[in-house]
Amino acid sequence: MSDRTGITRLRELLEAAHHAVVFTGAGISTESGIPDFRSPGGIWTRMAPIDFQDFIASEEARREAWRRRFAMEDTFRGAEPNRGHRAVATLVRRGTVASVITQNIDGLHQASGVPDRQVIELHGNTTYATCLDCGERHELAPIRAAFETNEIPPHCVKCEGLVKTATISFGQSMPVLAMQRAEAETLAADLFIVLGSSLVVYPAAGFPELAKHNGARLVIVNREETGLDRYADLVLHEPIGDTLGGAVGVN
Ligand code: NAD
Ligand code: ZN
Repeated sequence: MSDRTGITRLRELLEAAHHAVVFTGAGISTESGIPDFRSPGGIWTRMAPIDFQDFIASEEARREAWRRRFAMEDTFRGAEPNRGHRAVATLVRRGTVASVITQNIDGLHQASGVPDRQVIELHGNTTYATCLDCGERHELAPIRAAFETNEIPPHCVKCEGLVKTATISFGQSMPVLAMQRAEAETLAADLFIVLGSSLVVYPAAGFPELAKHNGARLVIVNREETGLDRYADLVLHEPIGDTLGGAVGVN
């Protein structure tokens, strides 16, 4: 069931926009089979996140982080963009949406055809790893093969530094450039569309607030209520794929 009036209103807002910005959370990827964190049955109802200080300090924490990551590998590798991602990519192609600010780490916006330069990843990317010391990029397949034989957390082949998925953990500093780009895009937005975020993780959740304060229209499409619903111009507690796909005319 989708909300016809809501979809029509969303289409009108999109048609009136000159510089729309999309802001996505884990909810846009659940329809691709990647679980979110905070829905019932979400990842964090089952296990607490490992924060950055623990990852640095403890080999056992690193081992656990890599175990969890490889336990998710088939899910991430098998995931394909869904109707929601396709609708966003279409809006980017049409020029309606200038950029996509995402909390997601799955790379599915890029996979759906949004050019890299228009995706702003606030929490990094889990589809590859980097050395925490020298920044060298490492692919996951060889790390996995080695880890599965000895369960030793990987070190950098260049500098011996610790290797971690290219994501931002709790306790880790936010990527400076991505934060600056996200702020500039938020301030340029006349329409700001939140898709599938519980809006409880800061500083990321500050962007919809900033957009609204700065005069943009704010739309929230999320199955559950969020703390910003009362400030939004349009709130749809509906599945993202059908809602945005319907508004944009994409299957
Ligand atoms: P979240 O788990 O806190 O919230 C997701 C929200 O999406 C929930 O409120 C849920 O009701 C809603 N939702 C789920 N499926 C939906 C659907 N099909 N249609 C409409 N709404 C739907 O996610 P968050 O706010 O992104 O914060 C979690 C953090 O975890 C993020 O910062 C992100 O880095 C990370 N994360 C990323 C992925 C991913 O990359 N796919 C997956 C899990 C977690
Ligand atoms: Zn290194």
